[in-house]
Amino acid sequence: MSDQIKFIDFTYMNAQVRAAMLQQFENVFDSQWYILGDRVKQFEKIYADANEVKHCVGVANGLDALTLCLKALDIKEGDEIIVPSNTYIASWLAVSCVGATPVPVEPNENTYNISPEKIKAAITKKTKVIMPVHLYGQACEMDEIMKIAEENNLYVVEDNAQAQGSSYNGKLTGSFGHINATSFYPGKNLGAYGDAGAVTTNDDALADKIKVLRNYGSQKKYFNEIKGVNSRLDELQAAFLSIKINYLAEWNAERNSVAKWYNEKLSSIKNISIPQLANGATSNYHLYVIRTEKRDALTEHLTKNGIGSLIHYPVPPHLQEAYRELDFKKGDFPIAEKIAETCLSLPIYPGIKKEEVDKVISIISDFK
Ligand SMILES: *Cc1c(COP(=O)(O)O)cnc(C)c1O
Repeated sequence: MSDQIKFIDFTYMNAQVRAAMLQQFENVFDSQWYILGDRVKQFEKIYADANEVKHCVGVANGLDALTLCLKALDIKEGDEIIVPSNTYIASWLAVSCVGATPVPVEPNENTYNISPEKIKAAITKKTKVIMPVHLYGQACEMDEIMKIAEENNLYVVEDNAQAQGSSYNGKLTGSFGHINATSFYPGKNLGAYGDAGAVTTNDDALADKIKVLRNYGSQKKYFNEIKGVNSRLDELQAAFLSIKINYLAEWNAERNSVAKWYNEKLSSIKNISIPQLANGATSNYHLYVIRTEKRDALTEHLTKNGIGSLIHYPVPPHLQEAYRELDFKKGDFPIAEKIAETCLSLPIYPGIKKEEVDKVISIISDFK
């Protein structure tokens, strides 16, 4: 073994759950029931309770979860949805999937999360939804955002793909908005062993609508009330997630210890900015993202020394080829652009050893 430090490594987590996962596979395999059975129902109950919401509806992935939230709210062409200018493209794609228009709003430069003040300035007569994204795992300033939504009669759809277990003023992310989405992509803090996602809501009617939409628009087999899609969470992933969710708090705590260690040691290094939390916000540290003007050179230095790192994300959505139709140009969202040019995500995962974190820190301190 070389002394490489990977950006992400599942070895420790997989070892903890391996026996239980193989047992769950056997249980589902032998049950001979693979789609929308008791295991999906059980997981939906567990996840709703864990998130302190009334309903959870399992779906196929995080992008579908977001898209179905917007569909359930009857969002369509001509509607405007407020999204962060710095987010993973999925948040914007969900808006495009229902034919609506993403309206980007800049983040706070220190927390990387959407700025409530700037949301106000972006509201027009066409605005229907605010979609906060708890980026890198840190909760957005949800009390402020909910207040703005209420005052302007808007819906809130949280993109909680990265922030399972995070909170704002003591309340869990994914429980603020009218209807919210999450992802269990394998690399997320609560990850499945394939694609999976879920919608959470306290609204009975919206939950029912998602259940119908995810299953061909049908409640009763072969009777279709509306034009739905096929976006079901499968029994196998539900069975896996029902076990893995028991580890989430402990694993998030481990990530927090690593982040604290990075913060302590990196804060004194010149020309490196460490991530900051807003008052009242916690983070599950899905990612630990620093910023430096010499990002590309630092990345190269880390790679040369056997340390994995990634950029989340190198191109903001408004400058992506896919969004040329919106006619944005470089300079339109300078904070998002600056973050894209300077951000760097360091290794953080349950099971990373203190010596490994120390090595990352010392390689960064050596960088001139
Ligand atoms: C991962 C992610 C998604 C999409 O989830 P998938 O399950 O990959 O479709 C959406 N939004 C954010 C912020 C994400 O990180």
